[in-house]
Amino acid sequence: MIDLIIKDGIIVTVDDERRIFHGSVAVDKGKIIRLGDCSDLNAGKIIDASGSVVIPGLINCHTHLYQALIEGIGYDMHFEPWNWKFLFPIVSKMSPEHSFASARLASLEMVKSGTTTVCDHWYMHTSFANVRQVAKALDESGMRADIVYGLLDQTFAGERIDSEYMTMIHDRDDLVKDAAKFINEWHGKNRTIVSIGAGSTEDASEDLLVESKKLADSFSIQLNSHVAGWQDILAYCYRKYGVRDMEFMHSRGLTGSNSVFVHAVWLTPEEIKILARTGSNIVHCPVANAHLGYGVAPITAMLSEGINVGLGTDGAASYTYDMFDLMKSASMLQKQHNLSADFLTAEQTLELATIGGAKVLGLSDHVGSLEVGKKADLIVVDFNKPHLLPVNRVVPKLVYSARGSDVKTSVIDGLVIMEDYKVLTMNENKVIEESIEIANELVRGAGEETRRLLEAPWGSKRPYWRS
Ligand SMILES: [Zn+2]
Repeated sequence: MIDLIIKDGIIVTVDDERRIFHGSVAVDKGKIIRLGDCSDLNAGKIIDASGSVVIPGLINCHTHLYQALIEGIGYDMHFEPWNWKFLFPIVSKMSPEHSFASARLASLEMVKSGTTTVCDHWYMHTSFANVRQVAKALDESGMRADIVYGLLDQTFAGERIDSEYMTMIHDRDDLVKDAAKFINEWHGKNRTIVSIGAGSTEDASEDLLVESKKLADSFSIQLNSHVAGWQDILAYCYRKYGVRDMEFMHSRGLTGSNSVFVHAVWLTPEEIKILARTGSNIVHCPVANAHLGYGVAPITAMLSEGINVGLGTDGAASYTYDMFDLMKSASMLQKQHNLSADFLTAEQTLELATIGGAKVLGLSDHVGSLEVGKKADLIVVDFNKPHLLPVNRVVPKLVYSARGSDVKTSVIDGLVIMEDYKVLTMNENKVIEESIEIANELVRGAGEETRRLLEAPWGSKRPYWRS
């Protein structure tokens, strides 16, 4: 008797041969033990996947879960006012309770929409207890998590210092000490691993950037940082260091196969070569990049160079944790930007959200594809729907037509986390009820200027916040 069989689905393996076939997936002790005909096996639980497509669980390679409760306040904003008018006034008072609620709400949305692994970049250390509450929330949700202990020792995303809002900035030594403590507490615990990284060249000192690499190496964990996302950061780096953002990271030894760089929009062909040569990994955030007007990352060029690329929602600027949203946007954006329908095929896009993301996070030996011996992280997408139907080629339908709300069942580490649209690890109504309360509390605490954003008029001629 084995633990689980997902029976009679269309299996999209994303394995080395990229096999797609009708069949079943057998799971025991957290791992996939057979793919194909499983009719001779008995299982404690059988899930009927007829008319559905079974794919590897989706991997969100970059987000900031602390922003999950604050959508619907700041939007249609350049990064500068987005931070100072909206983000900082609200989140600078983030408590451990807020952090837990925020991560729990996001994990509910992620589980419901088919994400099984998330990498959260957490730098909101208004209390050092916050990041531990995030780890706890993700652990309780049943998700697989990579928590980046973010490091900020100078003003975030700009040069305005001495602000009452900069409560997430700490001294280098305090950060490094607490990061090491957190790594010891959470790295390798259940389904969670820990990475480390400065926010970006704008919000970490040179000393801290170098120190973060040393710390990552000493614990054999990944380094994870924002790079070349917004154009302004190039000006900042030229002014401060005389070189471009990515060049600076490379010159200080921060590139390499254990390094993950997020955004990577403003890169020269030379910098792309550096990434390829050093085996560095990239996270592409197409929706957040588009919303904030960052630009379109040259990911087709990166893929041609053999660079590992994954997809990330980023935080509240993307207005979604739905990786199906992200897949469609990523592909459409590359086609439109390069004026060619050939760019970023449906198959390549599904790879980014599965095996590509797993490679970026250093997890591809365990997850990212459906293969015997790998961890059983998989989702069942219900194609018995008018906008899908279980006929013809399924990959373009997964990427261009499916939505997170079509995910019917989710299995993580061999455990059924959601079955027939019901999340089993959380009380959905309770999570929503408590999240509303805490979201209101955050706005109340933010002050007059931010509250006024909620009362601004309809943005008919220009964005509402400029009224
Ligand atoms: Zn980010």
